[in-house]
Amino acid sequence: MRKPLIAANWKMHKTIPEAVDYVKRFVPAVRNAADVDILIAPPFTAISAVAGALRTAQRADIFVAAQDVFYEEKGAYTGEVSTGMIKDAGCSFAIAGHSERRQYFHETDSLVNKKARAAVRAGLGVIICVGETLEERNTGRTFDVVKRQVSEALLEFEEADFGNIVFAYEPVWAIGTGVTATPDQAEEAHVFIRSVIKEIYGGEIAGDVRILYGGSVKPENVDEIMACPDVDGALVGGASLDPESFSRLVMFKKG
Ligand code: PEP
Repeated sequence: MRKPLIAANWKMHKTIPEAVDYVKRFVPAVRNAADVDILIAPPFTAISAVAGALRTAQRADIFVAAQDVFYEEKGAYTGEVSTGMIKDAGCSFAIAGHSERRQYFHETDSLVNKKARAAVRAGLGVIICVGETLEERNTGRTFDVVKRQVSEALLEFEEADFGNIVFAYEPVWAIGTGVTATPDQAEEAHVFIRSVIKEIYGGEIAGDVRILYGGSVKPENVDEIMACPDVDGALVGGASLDPESFSRLVMFKKG
């Protein structure tokens, strides 16, 4: 059984006081959540404060993630942040290959692979994001693009690493646009991603890996998205910024 994971990606939002206030409001709201993993990815500057606030609220089981991480441990890489640094700040996860990193910072599949491997090598969980643009979907290239992204992200991993790997299918046309993939579109892509993983690493690993859906998930559509058999959770941007709205997503109703 794959335990659902509901993840918040705050992107470039929230100061430290705002982040701490969020945790104070969010924790009581998810007191009665079912058996679900919860993850928050604040901006780098608020990671330590969020991890501290979660410890104070006795919810250190809520994962804290970095929205990105560099693959070298230290050195002359101005502006970059290493796996050791994010662990030190309180992270147990990192996101790799978010479409905004691919789009605005020209991150390639090979770079995403290096970041994902560095994260896993450091004992972190990693959420690897994949997904097609609208143009790629409209020209019938969705499956080629997603297959390439998944296969290249998984180069040089070993079977034992899979306990730390999560995928997120995030069609670029659905991110921050208010347009959500239909449950059928999401399920189709998730089944496909699982089949690509199966081709490379076999059925057992493919059956166990968690695949999240991301793209305008909100309280009004979370239940139908989470009802898809191959959707194991959600990676949420906009609707995660408000603690009441994100708590509703964590409290999704299955089926
Ligand atoms: C995201 O940033 O990963 C995302 C899915 O954003 P949104 O929920 O705002 O579409």
